[in-house]
Amino acid sequence: MVRRVLSENAREYVMQYALAIVFLLVVAGSTAFTAWIIRDVVDEIFYRQRQELIAVICGAILAAFVLRGLATYGQAVLLAKIGNNLVARYQRRIYDHLLRLGVDFYNDSRSGQLAAQISQNVGGVRDLLNLTITSITRDAVALVGLVSVMVFQDPQLSLIALLIGPPLIITVYYLMKRLRGVTREAVHINSHLVGAMQETTQGIAIVKAFTMEDQLKAKLATLITDAESRANKIARVSEGTTPIAEILAGFAVAGVIAFAGFRAVESGTPPGSMAAFIAALLFAYDPARRLAKLQIHLERSLVNARMIYEILDMEPKQGDVSGAGELKVGAGEVVFDDVSFSYVADLPVLHSVSFIAKSGSSTAIVGGSGAGKSTLVALLQRFYDLDSGAIRIDGQDISACTKASLRRSIAYVSQHPYLFEGSIRDNIRYGRPDATDAEIEEAARLAYADEFIRQQSEGYDTPVGENGVTLSGGQRQRISIARAIVRNAPILLLDEATSALDNDSELQVQKALETIMRDRTTIVIAHRLSTIIDADHIVVLEDGYLAEQGRHDELIKKKDGVYARFHRLQGARNLEIVDDTGDMLAVQK
Ligand code: ADP
Repeated sequence: MVRRVLSENAREYVMQYALAIVFLLVVAGSTAFTAWIIRDVVDEIFYRQRQELIAVICGAILAAFVLRGLATYGQAVLLAKIGNNLVARYQRRIYDHLLRLGVDFYNDSRSGQLAAQISQNVGGVRDLLNLTITSITRDAVALVGLVSVMVFQDPQLSLIALLIGPPLIITVYYLMKRLRGVTREAVHINSHLVGAMQETTQGIAIVKAFTMEDQLKAKLATLITDAESRANKIARVSEGTTPIAEILAGFAVAGVIAFAGFRAVESGTPPGSMAAFIAALLFAYDPARRLAKLQIHLERSLVNARMIYEILDMEPKQGDVSGAGELKVGAGEVVFDDVSFSYVADLPVLHSVSFIAKSGSSTAIVGGSGAGKSTLVALLQRFYDLDSGAIRIDGQDISACTKASLRRSIAYVSQHPYLFEGSIRDNIRYGRPDATDAEIEEAARLAYADEFIRQQSEGYDTPVGENGVTLSGGQRQRISIARAIVRNAPILLLDEATSALDNDSELQVQKALETIMRDRTTIVIAHRLSTIIDADHIVVLEDGYLAEQGRHDELIKKKDGVYARFHRLQGARNLEIVDDTGDMLAVQK
């Protein structure tokens, strides 16, 4: 994993990293120098009392500290800049990738958890690179420098001090092994926890309506306790290095002083080298401790980096076939030819469905809930690939055309009009990015939206979406119709709203729809009786089978037909069309 992150990013940052490494080397060098010069401080200034050297030595110490300060600042800022740039790059990469992934990916992943996972994990990649670079360069180089000072100053003492190395390495190794397992568990529990909390906020209406509070609280309480005890365990294990390192360091320092003391009494060696030695030993303590802990941090960021790559490695399905041509739409006739489809293997939801939506006419798809209406509309946009059969537009198989050209020919008005962060104008312009302001306003007029848009505080520039003004359902629908009008595509897909709007809105939405349907091939998932009656063609689906098709007056005559049954029930149920499972199909005011 480290290698992959490095190979994907190292080239980009090679110069900056090289400069950062130079700074880190300066930091390590000046630290080693500070320890080194202690011998001259003790021997020359205090032991031999050479006054003329005071200025030189103190000047050198001052210079070393100034240099160290500047270099530390330089490397920290540089590494932070690289890190931030890396985060930005991964965010861009992930977002591009998310846009490329098909609808099927979003069906199986929870959006909230996904967003949390991404923002958390991108940091992991940055930490991975920076930890490797800083720890290895700064701490390892500092350690090597300081140990060299120790060995050079006093090989005998070094031998004593370095005796603590092997037991330290063995303990660290043992603790790390335990830690790896615990860390993995903790990351897992935490993502569960975040997911559960997000789920609650997203489904809060259901939570309240079904008074699920106590059950959820109990479920979360277990997770929270689990996460807490995991975090405590991580603290115990990872901090386990500290007392052991301290004790061993105590042995080393005490042993060194004892040995040096005896030696000084016996042979009268000046104390300078011993002082420099102890200074180096103490300076070496910090980098050694950080290196011992490196594995812990690395382990955590590795888990995060891996999750990012799990998403990046997902191949988008429904790619264009090689040599896919542009779809050229003339009249816009849509043909479903023997279409079968299943989301999950062996569970077909559409069985050999065939019908023709003639160019410039409207085709209503009707059927109970779960009959396969939305699936049909999704297939026409190639959100999924067919099991068998073909969908053709003006004689061209859509699976042989580029997805981009297919979707350019289609305008979609959803049942749940979604407005994105931005102004009303931006939201209409998503229909066609190069639309002029005049075209946008014309589309809004045709969609019966111009009037209410102008009444907003900033007119077309009023912000909508999550942080914008609240618009009514009917208003949002008319904006999304304006978006479809601006797109000016030959084929219109319409998912009629099931939820009833107030009379006034309903009428305006209806009129807006009539405008946009004119002269376009329209396929509409119909819920309103008036839409169904006025349609040029009706396709009746039942449990994934095409039950019957024709015009309203033809279908109504088949006494045993599904459609006629709907219609009879409508009378019995007081103007509601109801299918045989009791699902309401439409409300007619
Ligand atoms: P309708 O729009 O007529 O209510 P759908 O096309 O949404 O019906 O659904 C048809 C069938 O496909 C249903 O049985 C539904 O459970 C199933 N289905 C819909 N979407 C998915 C999906 N993403 N994964 C698996 N099954 C699905």
